[in-house]
Amino acid sequence: MSKKELTKKEIKAIRQRLVREPRLVWDELGASERKKAFALCDEYKEFLDRAKTEREAVVAIRDAAKEKGFSEKPKPGSGKPFFMVFQEKTIALVRPGKGAIDNGVRLIVSHIDAPRLDLKQNPLYEDVDLTFLKTHYYGGIKKFQWVTRPLAIHGRFIRADGQALDIVVGEDEKDPVFCVLDLLPHLARKSQYDKKLGEAIPGEKLNVIAGSIPIGDRETKDRFKLALLNILNEKYGLVEEDFISAEIEVVPAGKAKDVGWDRSLVGAYGHDDRSSAFTSLKALFDIKDSDRTSVIIFVDKEEIGSEGATGAKSKLIEAVIARAMNVMGHDAGSHKVLDILSRSKALSADVNGALDPDYQEVHEKMNAARLGYGVCVTKFTGHGGKSGANDASAEYAGWLRRLFNSEKVTWQTGELGKVDEGGGGTVAKFLAVYGMDVIDYGVPVLSMHAPFEVAHKGDLYMTYKGCRAFLEADE
Ligand code: MN
Ligand code: MN
Repeated sequence: MSKKELTKKEIKAIRQRLVREPRLVWDELGASERKKAFALCDEYKEFLDRAKTEREAVVAIRDAAKEKGFSEKPKPGSGKPFFMVFQEKTIALVRPGKGAIDNGVRLIVSHIDAPRLDLKQNPLYEDVDLTFLKTHYYGGIKKFQWVTRPLAIHGRFIRADGQALDIVVGEDEKDPVFCVLDLLPHLARKSQYDKKLGEAIPGEKLNVIAGSIPIGDRETKDRFKLALLNILNEKYGLVEEDFISAEIEVVPAGKAKDVGWDRSLVGAYGHDDRSSAFTSLKALFDIKDSDRTSVIIFVDKEEIGSEGATGAKSKLIEAVIARAMNVMGHDAGSHKVLDILSRSKALSADVNGALDPDYQEVHEKMNAARLGYGVCVTKFTGHGGKSGANDASAEYAGWLRRLFNSEKVTWQTGELGKVDEGGGGTVAKFLAVYGMDVIDYGVPVLSMHAPFEVAHKGDLYMTYKGCRAFLEADE
């Protein structure tokens, strides 16, 4: 007996039922939501311009939280939304739910540090009648991207009398900027062209030019360096030793911009990971009252391995849960804190590398995130054999998939590069130690870690929408 021949229509129906087709955000959004996506990104660009360092991000987030009625000193048992700041570089916002906290919280953790050049503790010197500042790069940078471009200096000094001094130079139209020099091509053959790309610009040559007018006369020792110290003293009351008690960051100067004739993309410094910080913050403010308690944490130090007092490896998260219990009128014994964390659901909110049109060969295209196909859910990160990964469970991936499908969140999955091509990590594994459900989630980005990264407005919007759905879900 021969099989019945299927009609073209039937085959089409089978395809529709069985095959997952990638969905482009622009095909999914109606005119009004498209408008919302663009408006959201205008707000996002303002956030990026305000929050170029982790300290500035904390200030921007704290100001927004206060405006929305979050309190810094919540009364025990009040059940009111509150925030906690740690060393001015990490901040947590908590919005207590209507229901009990015992069944766990909804947690979104992003990071607010970004790759950059940090000034060394003894940075000032002069050479061939110019003044320079020595740097040590922070996070994974391609060093050649940081030369010959305008740079701004942001940071904090603690002066001898203990007073804090914050400076930002290079962002205002009237400000001077700074830069790292590079060798002219005419003479670069042996020093640069014959070397590997990663070795052509040594880290010790990432020196920032800071001045060229001397003080005194030819007899004056170190008169260029001295002249700069004199300017810093007259302007800010600084002395050389103040650089030792300082965190001064050199970042790309200038504002976030729309990219493309159709303005569909955002180009900026620090999409990684302020795109996650902004979308999760905005979602927290916009959700309806929920049964679940929402906890949004913005951590520092992710780009150098989540170390340190303000990184995700610290135990700050336990302090946040303990405070939440206190504010909600519970006793916060340490076993209870751990119990709540183990019952929680988390998004490790961080960007993923998008399929690069010019270097498609480093990606495995079936599993690479693509710009414009929505928020990227990454089951595992790590490198070579999933080493160092938090590998989210099938059950949790299934829960999130059902949620996003029912809430019309356009989403895709991503893997960071081909097997054995390289790799990377996020804070997911430091949340997973508590036994909670956690998965990586965020905007696909092109030119990741570059001074000017590119993200897609539709993806940014879907990341926001997904955060909302996650925080509002009852289940
Ligand atoms: Mn990141
Ligand atoms: Mn990164």
